[in-house]
Amino acid sequence: MQHFPIFLAVAGRRITLSGGGDAALAKLRLLMKTEAHLNVFAADPASEIVNWANEGRLHLTRRALEPGDALCSALFYAANDDGAEDARVTRLAQADGALTNWVDNLENSQFITPAIVDRDPVTIAIGTEGAAPVLARAIKADLEARLPPTLGTLARIGKAFRKAADALPMGRKRRDFWADYYFDTGPQVIAEQSEAKITAALETLLSHHLSTAPRVGRVELVGAGPGDPELLTLKARRALDTADVVIHDRLVSPAILELARREATLIDAGKKGFGPAMAQSDICALMVEHAAQGAHVVRLKSGDPGVYGRLDEEIEALDAAGIDWNIVPGITSASAAAASIGQSLTKRDRNSAIRLLTGHDMKGLAEHDWRGLARAGEVAAIYMGLRGARFIQGRLLMHGAAPDTPITAVENASRPESRMVATTLSRLAADLEAAALTGPAILLYGLAPRSAASLPILKQEHA
Ligand code: SAH
Repeated sequence: MQHFPIFLAVAGRRITLSGGGDAALAKLRLLMKTEAHLNVFAADPASEIVNWANEGRLHLTRRALEPGDALCSALFYAANDDGAEDARVTRLAQADGALTNWVDNLENSQFITPAIVDRDPVTIAIGTEGAAPVLARAIKADLEARLPPTLGTLARIGKAFRKAADALPMGRKRRDFWADYYFDTGPQVIAEQSEAKITAALETLLSHHLSTAPRVGRVELVGAGPGDPELLTLKARRALDTADVVIHDRLVSPAILELARREATLIDAGKKGFGPAMAQSDICALMVEHAAQGAHVVRLKSGDPGVYGRLDEEIEALDAAGIDWNIVPGITSASAAAASIGQSLTKRDRNSAIRLLTGHDMKGLAEHDWRGLARAGEVAAIYMGLRGARFIQGRLLMHGAAPDTPITAVENASRPESRMVATTLSRLAADLEAAALTGPAILLYGLAPRSAASLPILKQEHA
């Protein structure tokens, strides 16, 4: 980050601007939304600026900027539409101790003005470090459309009510009250357009929140999907948005953890292959402990929590402790992997069933119905299958599977760094070893990529 976003207190302070043309007008329209004292220096100001000066909205001096003019200014804008003049006034303003912005000259500016969505007192600043003004404008337009114009009013009334709301204990109780106001009661009553009515509704709401017992904790067992944040369900997003505590597996991608509520406690219960991990009993104990204290706990698991997620052990622990829980399903990695190679998991006349297998279980390499799997046309998604690939290959060949049965390994399905290895049963172990996959990978037994040409974004490591 080369520019650090802050909100500067400018009410009652001086902001100086040099220039009287188009660039000056654009900046002044923005600056006049603030409560700062605006001083404009322009030898030949546009008529709008003259009018604003007459209305007392800014102070106009009809000459070019001179040394000392920017003294005591918090900010200075060089907006002359003239490079040489902007360079001169920027030097002068810096000598006067002001922080300077040279309009449309990123390199020579000490600060830049973001694109702004104004729902005062809610102000959203969008910056791209000058890299993509078009993008900033698109984001701004998107937010403008999405945020109701009444948002500012709600926030302003809410702000005036903050002292009263301090009657609620800090933390969750207070947050629940405000969430209720901003997302339920507020939008409902604001249609009435009367500030008194909204404040009355706030008072009713407050007494309601003051009288109710503390909320009991609960646990949501949530599927985070294969890694792409856009493959989260809306329910998963909402759960992350409101969680007090997020206990996540190592495979949950950082981009998804970014979406957790900022105040939420993140706990990494990383469980990877045979590596170091928090014991299952510790994870259960953690969930119970936090929920018992009244927290909204999100137990975040990669893919679908009901697929190799040890879900039942956690549910049993929660039931034993009498804690409420619910499951939010997610997209399992088999679905994401199949999608990435352009295949369906079931197909008429090929396989009417698909099996989910694990390469190893608690006891080590896992045994399966190899004979059944060896039949032509079978399809299976093998989770945690990399380490056991040689064993799986041996078992299937031994039970009569065709050596040229296609197998596709998809590593990091749905993530930007995804790779795939398209191989056959006879070459499985050798090809996987050569590819040296390091991320989570799933083996799609019986499936080949639809065609390399239709999968331009995947690097095909082995043919
Ligand atoms: N609940 C998860 C599976 C957990 S077991 C789900 O539904 O997907 C962990 C295994 O899942 C990994 O060893 C790997 O085989 C698979 N896996 C998880 N994320 C993956 C991804 N993004 N790409 C490929 N395989 C993945």
